[in-house]
Amino acid sequence: MSEPLHYKSVAELSSELSSKKISSVELTQAVIARTKAVDAKVRAFNSFDEADALAQAKASDERRSSAKTLGVLDGIPIGFKDVISVKGQPLTASSNMLKNFVSPYDATVTQKLKGVGAISWGRLNLDEFAMGSSTENSAFGQTHNPWDLERVPGGSSGGSAAALAAGEAPATLGSDTGGSIRQPAALCGVVGLKPTYGLISRYGLIAFASSLDQIGPFTRTVEDSAILLNAIAGHDPMDSTSFKTEIPDYRAELKKRKGPWKLGIPKEYFGEGLDPEVTKAVEDAVSFYKSKGCEIKEISLPHTKYAVGVYYIIATAECSSNLARYDGVRYGHRSKDANDILDLYFKSRAEGFGAEVKRRIILGTYVLSSGYQDAYYVRAQKVRTLIRRDFLEAYKDVDAVITPTSPTPAFKAGEKAANPLAMYLCDVYTIGVNLAGLPGLSIPCGYSKSGLPIGLQLIGKPYGESELLSIAHSYEQEHTWGTRHPNIEAQKGAL
Ligand code: GLN
Repeated sequence: MSEPLHYKSVAELSSELSSKKISSVELTQAVIARTKAVDAKVRAFNSFDEADALAQAKASDERRSSAKTLGVLDGIPIGFKDVISVKGQPLTASSNMLKNFVSPYDATVTQKLKGVGAISWGRLNLDEFAMGSSTENSAFGQTHNPWDLERVPGGSSGGSAAALAAGEAPATLGSDTGGSIRQPAALCGVVGLKPTYGLISRYGLIAFASSLDQIGPFTRTVEDSAILLNAIAGHDPMDSTSFKTEIPDYRAELKKRKGPWKLGIPKEYFGEGLDPEVTKAVEDAVSFYKSKGCEIKEISLPHTKYAVGVYYIIATAECSSNLARYDGVRYGHRSKDANDILDLYFKSRAEGFGAEVKRRIILGTYVLSSGYQDAYYVRAQKVRTLIRRDFLEAYKDVDAVITPTSPTPAFKAGEKAANPLAMYLCDVYTIGVNLAGLPGLSIPCGYSKSGLPIGLQLIGKPYGESELLSIAHSYEQEHTWGTRHPNIEAQKGAL
């Protein structure tokens, strides 16, 4: 049975566009119609500009009719997490601090996508300033998981994952500092890639923790992930941490590599707190690789137990510094009843930031304060090095590491909201990857008995995206998890 337009992959849509079976205007209209039909329930979007998207689609169709098409992404709508700048459009980070802010320039990834004809389609909800794992921290209301509207879509890129799963965009972009692409991808049953630190420019991405943040794609398939990566990867002089490296054609490489691979299973990742249904799904995936001739090795990443602690020192330290710019003076929320400049800083920040953001700024200021900096921040940096070394040591012997993405399937909204520690533990399996700067990918690997998606995380070598995508692709070729869709129509909207 053929999928409706709003559930087709980028690769399929692209070939339908090239064979002129559909036009970009038709596709964009279908995506808009779908969004209008379901987003009152899902609430993935902070904003979208219908007229602007249709104008871009029309321009794409005109290019096509004069044989000036810009490539596979020409005419395909892509949703943006609301921390990635799109010139002339709102950019809020789901914060009251930036409620009325309009982006004065394009992020490098935006420019690159526009350069290949993709249509920038809407801005997607997130946990305020990307801090959270459920999208409940948004100042503009929570996003709902399309598979069960009473559950969270994960976070912080919950809007990007939910919009894709609900058919509101053929692909979206998110950002991942400690798991924010992979965990929501797992909870919403889609593919989410966090590239190697330095592969994608961060220019124009609202900074949370600069040494960890990385932009990446959410897609329906691994091939689509390769297509998006082709468009956004590459060195950028505007980001001093962007790396000069050869960028392969990820899509072409995908089919060339066939394995078998040597895959490592870290014993530290299968302990307490892991849901039995997740364990089973991941074990089944491991058995699949074994049946394909892959060698499976138990490995040890001994410093794993420190990852969450180290992350909450480094990420909060960097966020306290990055968010100092929101002072009510140059842009962003400005308090209306301040008496003097200090009062203006205090009141603007007190009114503009939500509870979780304040918690992080306070923690970060503390770990950087004199007398504590060596004990916390400097020490955490040292342990971070050990965490990275654990992985590099393992890669002497294996090609990739397999773990669950999230310890549990999607949890109920409200279940962890009052307990920051429980929320922080959602990222136990993803955070180490950011600390080590490695690429990580989440792909669907099953469903719980109650019908909730489960994600498999594959972790690659630095700049080893090509191989990582091939390993995932070989699994995807023989499984159909990613082709299921949630039944939003049958569900009553949640509050
Ligand atoms: N959930 C983690 C946090 O709250 C990671 C967020 C992210 O990757 N942006 O910080």
